[in-house]
Amino acid sequence: MYGVGILKGMAVTLKHFVDTYLDDIYWSSRGGRYYNDKAFEVRQSLKGKGVKTVFYPEEKLPMPERFRFVPFLVTDDPPPGQNWGKDWCTSCGICAKVCPPQCIWIERGKLPNGRPKPEPVNFYIDIDICMNCGFCMEFCPFDAIKLDHDYELADYDRTTAHLFDKERLSKPISYWREIAPQKAAAEEAARTFAEQSKKKKKAKRGAEGEQEPAPTLNDEYARQLMYRGASY
Ligand code: SF4
Ligand code: SF4
Repeated sequence: MYGVGILKGMAVTLKHFVDTYLDDIYWSSRGGRYYNDKAFEVRQSLKGKGVKTVFYPEEKLPMPERFRFVPFLVTDDPPPGQNWGKDWCTSCGICAKVCPPQCIWIERGKLPNGRPKPEPVNFYIDIDICMNCGFCMEFCPFDAIKLDHDYELADYDRTTAHLFDKERLSKPISYWREIAPQKAAAEEAARTFAEQSKKKKKAKRGAEGEQEPAPTLNDEYARQLMYRGASY
């Protein structure tokens, strides 16, 4: 018979409509359906009934680990009394090169002898141009740039407020572990594995009396990591 599917669909809609009011009545003696943490928890779970909505900004949904927004720069955990620790970024410039809308600018540091210092003096991202693609994070060889979960960045100022500098972008590694625990643990395991492999190779070379091979790109990577005191 024609139209049965439509009638079933409409019945489901009607059920949700009615359930919304029944749920309102249920929660009326329990502190209300809205602006109530307990009710919010139920409403967002599979037990939720009726039309479900979020009363933002009073209520906020937890962000899944894979959520990504404007990038931030990773630093070591800060010493007491400071906001962040040593930068992980070596100002290699790869992220700025791969960024499709070209919204990253890096000012590289200089050593007293004039040679480049593997550390940014400043780092800017125009967050109005950033499209949250994550290329910078994927290509960074030092795990130094990550996509954040903070989406509340609206501002009336359309100029400088959205040009984030190094200070605004920097966040400690403990923050990354908090918002993306699984990814952070996997990255840490990969770094530890690389460090152990490197040590084993070095010990084997020492045992066989082999000369150190000429520096490669990977050695340069390790040297820069050692420079910032991180593990490889
Ligand atoms: S790719 Fe990573 S290390 Fe290189 S400049 Fe960008 S954030 Fe810094
Ligand atoms: S997320 Fe994409 S657009 Fe934004 S800074 Fe990184 S590479 Fe550029």
